Amino acid sequence: MRLLWALLAVFAVLFSLVTANQLQSGRAIRDVETLVGFGARVSGSTNLEVAAKFLQSEYQKVGLKTEIELFSFERLRDFGSSVTAGSQKLAADTLYSSQISDIEGLAVRVPNFGSKEDYQNLSVKARVVLVKRGGIPFLEKARAAQAAGAIAVVIVNSVPGRLSANLLGDFAIPVVAVSGADGTPLLEQVAKNAVRLRVIADVRRTSITGRNVVARGSDAAPKLILGAHFDSVPGSPGANDNASGTAAILEMARRLPASLRAQIWFVSFDAEEDGLLGSSAFVQNLPTATLDGLKAMLNFDMVAVNNKISVGGSSSLTKLIRGIQPNIGEFQDFAGSDHASFLAESVPAVFFWRGFEPNYHLPSDSKVDAVLLEETISLGLETVQKLLGQ
Ligand SMILES: [Zn+2]
Repeated sequence: MRLLWALLAVFAVLFSLVTANQLQSGRAIRDVETLVGFGARVSGSTNLEVAAKFLQSEYQKVGLKTEIELFSFERLRDFGSSVTAGSQKLAADTLYSSQISDIEGLAVRVPNFGSKEDYQNLSVKARVVLVKRGGIPFLEKARAAQAAGAIAVVIVNSVPGRLSANLLGDFAIPVVAVSGADGTPLLEQVAKNAVRLRVIADVRRTSITGRNVVARGSDAAPKLILGAHFDSVPGSPGANDNASGTAAILEMARRLPASLRAQIWFVSFDAEEDGLLGSSAFVQNLPTATLDGLKAMLNFDMVAVNNKISVGGSSSLTKLIRGIQPNIGEFQDFAGSDHASFLAESVPAVFFWRGFEPNYHLPSDSKVDAVLLEETISLGLETVQKLLGQ
């Protein structure tokens, strides 16, 4: 009889644990749904502001002190850049730092990838240069064309889709890009016939206010930062990228014991999709002493759809996580998310990621997998506990 009671008691405990976990997982999934429900959370948009307020109030419910950290940056707004050949008008994307212009001239196709050497036996004075993407940086490509006397540069993307990029240097001539699908036939046409091209680079720089949601476990300097970006690209509700990571760190804040939570800041970064701008603004604003006192930054991005979870970043951290999950995947040198802003300041950082998936940056990124989200949360919690020595 005693044994039976003991067994019943064990079952009762197990059952209540399962139920508690299911309830908790449901909470994180509901957070993802709420964020998705706001629509695309593009930095600078009303949807993003609404999402920031939602996150702020959720962290306040956990008892954390919160703050919305503002920062500003510039974004290019395109008012209809194009490349026109005769009656054929192609949509174009003006590269950041290009000259704004409306100009026309005979087109010349530049061989190879348009480096300085490729202009040696080619006259492009007062011509529009047509060149393939790849081989060398955009900056070098545009500089070689400008130095050779070209009046405009049209870069043809190496894949069928469009291309938006930053030249990382100022130019006196327009530099635009067309999709591979539009540009490849144009390259052939220009190689065979004399083609006049009209290039319209019509962009304005607009100032955007970014918003990081910072939730502090206590007034003490943090030992750990848990981060995830909550902005998304235009047109995508960003369920996996990255309501998943945003909900994961929020749920970790709820489940961690107060003693550990007090050593952590939970940061939802804005403007990751504009080039890790939220995390770099955050890092720039942190006092050096706070940066130096950090044991680690854990970044969660795209963590609830697709493959098993992988980690990349500081080897001390990936090793520690392998101690928790021996067969975990590992990737090297991927700077495509907010951990990179911390690594740049020599803070040990690690990126939890499930890799690119078919809905990446598309309107169809609208759902996540509850089991995978829960797995990520559990691994994150175990990592925190190991790092803080409990
Ligand atoms: Zn992302």
